[in-house]
Amino acid sequence: MLAFDNSYVTLPTSLWRRQRPTPIQNAKLLTLNTALATELELDIAWWHSPEALAGLAGDGVWSGADPVAMKYAGHQFGGWNPDLGDGRGVLLGEIISPQGQRLDLHLKGSGPTPFSRQGDGRAVLRSSIREYLAGEALHALGVPSTRALAIVSSTHPVRRERMESAATLLRVTPCHIRFGHFEWLFHSNQHNDLRDLADYCIERYYPEAKAQSKPYMGLLEGIIKRTAKLMADWQCQGFAHGVMNTDNFSIAGETLDFGPYGFLEQYDPYLICNHSDHNGRYAWYLQPSVGLWNLNALAQAFTALLSIPEIELALAQYEPQLVKHYDQCMNAKLGLGAVQDGDRDLVAGWLALLQRAKQDYPQRFRWLSEHDIADLSTDDWGVQAAEVQQWLQRYQQRVEKQKAVDYSEPERQAAMQAVNPCYVLRNYLAQQVIEAAEQGDAKPLELLTQALQSPFTRRSELEHFDAAAPEWASCLSISCSS
Ligand code: AMP
Ligand code: MG
Ligand code: MG
Repeated sequence: MLAFDNSYVTLPTSLWRRQRPTPIQNAKLLTLNTALATELELDIAWWHSPEALAGLAGDGVWSGADPVAMKYAGHQFGGWNPDLGDGRGVLLGEIISPQGQRLDLHLKGSGPTPFSRQGDGRAVLRSSIREYLAGEALHALGVPSTRALAIVSSTHPVRRERMESAATLLRVTPCHIRFGHFEWLFHSNQHNDLRDLADYCIERYYPEAKAQSKPYMGLLEGIIKRTAKLMADWQCQGFAHGVMNTDNFSIAGETLDFGPYGFLEQYDPYLICNHSDHNGRYAWYLQPSVGLWNLNALAQAFTALLSIPEIELALAQYEPQLVKHYDQCMNAKLGLGAVQDGDRDLVAGWLALLQRAKQDYPQRFRWLSEHDIADLSTDDWGVQAAEVQQWLQRYQQRVEKQKAVDYSEPERQAAMQAVNPCYVLRNYLAQQVIEAAEQGDAKPLELLTQALQSPFTRRSELEHFDAAAPEWASCLSISCSS
């Protein structure tokens, strides 16, 4: 029922091994992403068939699929690891979307592969649900991200910090090629294969580079540009990835492989959402600099293709690109148009207030967007109330300038509401739907998914997703173990 057209297996065999999935016990379709299935014009009835379930459960291979485990390497928490690869997932193959885009179908949790090391090759239900939800949330916020089409639950036991059940997740996304793919071929001296990989990436992800006099320069610049934009998006949306190792960084600039991620609730730049990150290497405020660190690791592999001065020229574009995109995105969140002198200062002042008053990041933007500025009461800001009043005055003056170009207060509010979500993927919400799903009830998962898929419009039946975290949620701990 799926028309596969597999291109990754035309790459050198240094980049993959054929690997059939191994089945999980008592598999059940927990959820199907009907929004994504509809976009891709897939036959929804087929996805509920025994044939579809068998392929999702690793109990057979769909016709036309050619499952492979990808080989890559990477820097994990700063240390080089040559032994990585798909240890618990396989690329089933590729399909072409109705819009003509080539998409990978990747089955995560599909059993051991040659790259499993000591791992069991499995993914747990908890983290599969978390990945599914985050993909939908980021996508709806306009942040490039992998998405998933389906989750299969099972009674297959797996040991983590406690006993849990295994699940599989079908990822559908244009790119599973990681910075670590390039690093692997460079550091193992397979430079002809590296060239083949670069050519493949240009053809598939950066075709505009072909027209340049130096296509590899175009490729590196393209990756740098998209990574800069992604880091800016994460900071604006308050997303913390959690494990920014170079094997979890997509060369197409999409959010990939997020396990212990978090969305900022209370505005705390020092947030470390991954409890296994003891040194805070991937703390939220450090993400833009880690992005550059990772690009430097990638750039080292590009020394096989480009001169050092060329690489330096490309890397120098990262910061200006990131800052430009960040400024534009934050201006949009405040309902302001093109960036003007003083705007960066206005944004910084707002963030400083949120931090000092320990305010909820998404809710306070929404607060600004749902009232006339003149009607905003600062009574609930505690000791910061007077400073917030001062800031609101500056903000109002800046909005007045915007009004000179015909911008009414309702227009400001509508513009802000179109980019500031009222429904946010809070850890406690994820936890609640996970607990229901572990009891076999997928209904809360489906409701939360709906809220996250259109997060900007309040709907009465979803009102309960709008609350800040309850007391018990402060002790939720998310670690690398998944
Ligand atoms: P991650 O932290 O999920 O990005 O995984 C890092 C590496 O460990 C990748 O090569 C994964 O495929 C591998 N890995 C993670 N968990 C498992 C597991 N349960 N079994 C086998 N390999 C795993
Ligand atoms: Mg990974
Ligand atoms: Mg992973």
